[in-house]
Amino acid sequence: VQGQEYPVAAVERPDVRLPRRPRDAHKGDFGRVYILGGSMGLSGAPVMAAQAAVRSGAGLVSVGVPGQVWPIAAAKLDEAMVHPLPSGKEGMLELGAAMAVLERLPSFGVCLVGPGLGRSNTVGTVVRNLLQETKLPVILDADGINALGGHIDILDRRGCCTILTPHDVEFARIGGDLSHGDRLRAAREFAVEHGCCLVLKGHRTITAFPDGTAYVNTTGNPGMAKGGSGDVLGGILASLLAQGFTPREAAPMAVYLHGMAGDLCAAELGEYGMTPTDMIRRLPEVMKLAG
Ligand code: AMP
Ligand code: MG
Repeated sequence: VQGQEYPVAAVERPDVRLPRRPRDAHKGDFGRVYILGGSMGLSGAPVMAAQAAVRSGAGLVSVGVPGQVWPIAAAKLDEAMVHPLPSGKEGMLELGAAMAVLERLPSFGVCLVGPGLGRSNTVGTVVRNLLQETKLPVILDADGINALGGHIDILDRRGCCTILTPHDVEFARIGGDLSHGDRLRAAREFAVEHGCCLVLKGHRTITAFPDGTAYVNTTGNPGMAKGGSGDVLGGILASLLAQGFTPREAAPMAVYLHGMAGDLCAAELGEYGMTPTDMIRRLPEVMKLAG
């Protein structure tokens, strides 16, 4: 990889416009999102991801959470379906959860794995089982990324679409090298080496693809540097993929729209007081502007 030249595009506005929804459309036309997340103490993350997925147009959104977290998540979500999975220690997933999720996945278009999952050996095994067994596009975020641990070769072997959305610390945990300070180069090298799409989040989020092409995002602000912002991005990205956008279209576009929601919040509420939930509330306006 080193020394090779790659094309790079700056995302001023996303290339892709949201199409008009056909007048005779039904919910089946806009895809089904499955979100696997949640653990005791981290019940809000899958809820925010699900709300963001609903607010960005997905036809149906389902959420699988550990049984102990189910009453909380189910009470918070109106539009998304929430179902309980086998759970044990500290309200985290048990091994049986992998099979329970795999049985459901065939009717979905995309699976977002990670928001609030927590970290344990068992969670790691569940996530890796899923990655190995499903052919669906999978977005790995947060503890879904942490679950890879040293088993990064799973990405190389998937041979189908995997999108990772780490911040710098998560990126370092899976072997990403930021020591040289060149985030663009680091993201590209990782995406090329492991054949995945990598969304390296932060100020000027980089979205890199296995062919070495990359996008540098131009929206967003430090008001988004708060717990929960990343969960919102995961939901938007899953929603766009379920609606039929390719990873190449969906990833830079989701990042752009997410930043735009953040910028609307900053303008109205200020960077200090705005929250990820405020960003979800601004998504309808963002989606209108992108149409
Ligand atoms: P996470 O760390 O997973 O909660 O993700 C944080 C989200 O907020 C990512 O999408 C980041 O790109 C975004 N974000 C955080 N800080 C900034 C910043 N200073 N400028 C723009 N976006 C940011
Ligand atoms: Mg995060």
